[in-house]
Amino acid sequence: MPLKRSLSKTLSIYSSERFPWLSRKSSKHRHQAVVGVGGNIGDVKRRFEHLFFELHRDKRVTLTQTSLILKNPPFGFSEQEDFLNTIIVIKTSMNAKVFLEYLMRLEKKFGRKRSFANAPRTLDLDIIFFDDLVMNTDKLTLPHPAWMERESVLIPLSGLRL
Ligand code: ADP
Ligand code: MG
Repeated sequence: MPLKRSLSKTLSIYSSERFPWLSRKSSKHRHQAVVGVGGNIGDVKRRFEHLFFELHRDKRVTLTQTSLILKNPPFGFSEQEDFLNTIIVIKTSMNAKVFLEYLMRLEKKFGRKRSFANAPRTLDLDIIFFDDLVMNTDKLTLPHPAWMERESVLIPLSGLRL
């Protein structure tokens, strides 16, 4: 059972064996992606654990770090459950566009259905940083535009070693 601490009326943090976590191994992959992970349907903590193992055993990526888990209220569409958010650091040799497609397949695998903007979701994977790449295309904006102003990113991010 994860350890919980309240930060404020609406924010709390959870930590467990794998969140936060830091790998001791090095990686041969050349790029580093900082990925925001969120969800608010069903047993999200359990899903985060599954995601950890899924990434851990996938040779195309090296999971190097995870942050603590932050529970925070939804934005945009407020008639939904609170969100859990964490940040993971992944090394990969895929380029940014291919890596985004990889993350979208993972979202699907974890039951994500797309409905409307800011709708509840089982798993949302957003690329916050990809090396120091700056780009703005239809499919991919880097660094991620919205995440950077959000507590759901800033609080977990503050504990990472980058
Ligand atoms: P949101 O994460 O904003 O709630 P979605 O997960 O449905 O919404 O993503 C909408 C679109 O955002 C995706 O189809 C993707 O092409 C685009 N996108 C643009 N930049 C990024 C990024 N840095 N990381 C993830 N998705 C991005
Ligand atoms: Mg997304």
